[in-house]
Amino acid sequence: MTNIQGPVPTADDVYGILRNVIDPELGSDIVDLGMVKGASVGEDGTAKITIALTTMGCPLRAQIKQDAVLRVGELAGINDVKVDWTVLTSEEKANTMAKARQRIAENPSDTAVGMNTRVLLIASGKGGVGKSTVTVNLATALAASGYCVGVLDADIWGFSVPRMLGLEGRLEGEIVDDEAATEAGGEAALGEKKILPLEKSVPPGSLKVVSMGLLVDREETALMWRGLILSRAVRHFLEDVLWGDLDYLLVDMPPGTGDVQMGIAKLLPRAEMIIVTTPSTAAQKVAVRAATMGQKNYLRIVGVVENMTSFTSSDGATHSVFGEGGGEALATEVGVPLLGQIPLDAAVSAASDNGEPLLSGDASDTSDSTAAKAFRLLADKIVTEAAPPMSGCTARLFASDAVPVSVRL
Ligand code: ADP
Repeated sequence: MTNIQGPVPTADDVYGILRNVIDPELGSDIVDLGMVKGASVGEDGTAKITIALTTMGCPLRAQIKQDAVLRVGELAGINDVKVDWTVLTSEEKANTMAKARQRIAENPSDTAVGMNTRVLLIASGKGGVGKSTVTVNLATALAASGYCVGVLDADIWGFSVPRMLGLEGRLEGEIVDDEAATEAGGEAALGEKKILPLEKSVPPGSLKVVSMGLLVDREETALMWRGLILSRAVRHFLEDVLWGDLDYLLVDMPPGTGDVQMGIAKLLPRAEMIIVTTPSTAAQKVAVRAATMGQKNYLRIVGVVENMTSFTSSDGATHSVFGEGGGEALATEVGVPLLGQIPLDAAVSAASDNGEPLLSGDASDTSDSTAAKAFRLLADKIVTEAAPPMSGCTARLFASDAVPVSVRL
């Protein structure tokens, strides 16, 4: 440490230099994040700083300390640096998180997803609860209401979206021309090579779909790729796909993983999460973890969807096959609304197996099923309350007399 004769630095100088200390997890400097709770410099050139952490056991403590000591020690006149630790109050913590999220939002990474697109991550704690089913049928219900909806199958090794939507084509690349550049609203430069999503028309809206299943021929091949390319593939899908003007982008998340969530949270800090669970308490407990992971990545949780809620037999009796109350309990625990309850209905699995989602218009015999109605209600709740569209191509579509779902119900 340097000891140059002369006036000792002021507290302001210390605060100033601490602006270069970045909390690696939150991505902003510790002064901006409100984590520096005090700074003083004694006559003898000893600087004392107090730093508040989100938790005392914060694993980044040593790293932050090393960086702070190093930088403050560089100030002329400082002989020693002492760091005291404290913990942010829950109110301060909320402010710090909000600030971090705001900073990330101000400097978003470069993705091909337009700023007017509402990004909804459909997540679950474990597989088999119907996450992909909800993604596909919700996307279709939104499209059937006149919205342009993108579906990104980020469940890279468990992809099932193409099959559920009856899509068999392959993704192709395209050199961006004038028209595509205009449609992408500045998200794609002329002459750039982009991937074109596969389109499925669900009048009056449309679906644009990207999945690993549209790149590889066999599910087993994708399996071999797992881990290795997982995060890179998602990044690629967000950066290099010519999504165009979307109202919603629904992302079918892999079950339970934190890495993909974190990657998406960094690329699309405005993404929000919907958690899918079944009514069983075991599933609900696992789903809490997905919610916690989302919150850790500063993703807003829009709400919970309970799938396979109950089964109605031909005599009209309802049976709670997978227990009761898991969705409501999860919503209460996380402090978010229960957005919808989808019954256990043979029409749902039949629609997925046939590649004709309930509200696609292809499956007229299933579009009046109880599950179809539940998906319509869910889409309506999202559009009108929980996560209304920003302003994508909707205005254009509605101008050409498409009717929003809320009016049709
Ligand atoms: P996940 O994506 O969570 O792994 P899937 O969406 O693949 O789960 O669903 C698992 C299985 O359950 C599929 O065979 C699907 O058709 C079926 N399924 C999902 N939801 C329902 C439902 N509400 N009614 C009937 N079958 C359903």
